[in-house]
Amino acid sequence: MGGKVALVYSDEYLKYFLGPEHPLRPQRLTLMLELMREIGILEHPDLYVAEARMANEEELKLVHSEEYLQRVKRLDEKGVGYLDYGDTPAFKGMFSASAMLVGGSLKAAELVMEGEAIHAFNPGGGLHHAARDRGAGFCVFNDVAITARYLQKKYGLKRIMIVDIDCHHGDGTQETFYHDPSVLTVSFHEDGRFLYPGTGFIDEVGEGEGKGYCVNVPLPPLTFTEAYLYAYNEVVPPLVESYEPDMIMQQCGVDTHFRDPLTTEALTLDCYEKIMETLHNLAHEATDGKLILFGGGGYEIGCTAKAWTLMTCKLLGVKPPEYTPSSWRELYIKMALELGDVPKDPDTMYDQDKPPLTHERERILAVVKETVKKMKETVSKYAPLF
Ligand SMILES: [Zn+2]
Ligand SMILES: [Zn+2]
Repeated sequence: MGGKVALVYSDEYLKYFLGPEHPLRPQRLTLMLELMREIGILEHPDLYVAEARMANEEELKLVHSEEYLQRVKRLDEKGVGYLDYGDTPAFKGMFSASAMLVGGSLKAAELVMEGEAIHAFNPGGGLHHAARDRGAGFCVFNDVAITARYLQKKYGLKRIMIVDIDCHHGDGTQETFYHDPSVLTVSFHEDGRFLYPGTGFIDEVGEGEGKGYCVNVPLPPLTFTEAYLYAYNEVVPPLVESYEPDMIMQQCGVDTHFRDPLTTEALTLDCYEKIMETLHNLAHEATDGKLILFGGGGYEIGCTAKAWTLMTCKLLGVKPPEYTPSSWRELYIKMALELGDVPKDPDTMYDQDKPPLTHERERILAVVKETVKKMKETVSKYAPLF
């Protein structure tokens, strides 16, 4: 399963900075790149780092309205206030920093479609809460949705499948394609009764022609690796087989990790590897390998850096080391302490501790199984996907 893997990046990404007190920390990208460099995968013959580009207004308007772009510009000039009710602060340079993250995702699409790479990963992307007329949940522009529209418009793709594994429901992405069967959206997330944005229930299945082409898998708090993989493996492979996408994309938020400070899921780092192993195989079977990955949530900087590095190793077929390189360890400890965090398992590439509440496992697994079953029954009323 050879072929180039493109990592799309720019130091400009670090300008997407929502403030020193904000949980979304650009340092996680620096830490990820440093970890990749020190374990040697940046020099891997199949990996190349591509410079992101800026998305232009025409591209942003594939999803967003002119009125919304003007609003972002006005807030950018002022540099104060919020795009939503308090999660997404405005800052000077917000428009161009956000357009750069979108351009990184478009660059990823171009590299895959033009045969420069077989898979591409934009760790700066994955801003799945933004929608046509709004920014929300730390997201200004929805690069995932824009990339799908761009692939349709520029390259004529017919069926795009977007999987979203962020702990929060991919509401902006869902909303963009809610009436549209040409983009199948699939979101795994913590149940909206317990977590922002409070949507993503199994009866949200799309509308009109799009009815049946929106799949939601809400998971109970403390869903652990085995239960999560049960859900993922019950849902994603059959959908790839029945929908026959010409491109698979995945928003790879890792705020489902048990160390994440904003959420209460209980995944371990090896879960992201296993997800990537499944998805990678599916892409080689179904789309000639065409796979675009985006970043997303991840608020513990060390776990986020490790999770995305482990996923990239999986794409490259590289076995990661057991221990983190000592210079990376020092950098992580220094960055974490500067942010007022306690460093988590700085010595190892994987988790040293177990997630909490293991005695709840049977109950949680039963809830997950029941949710998957009900979701399949609901979706099957409208589209022949399961
Ligand atoms: Zn591959
Ligand atoms: Zn999230």
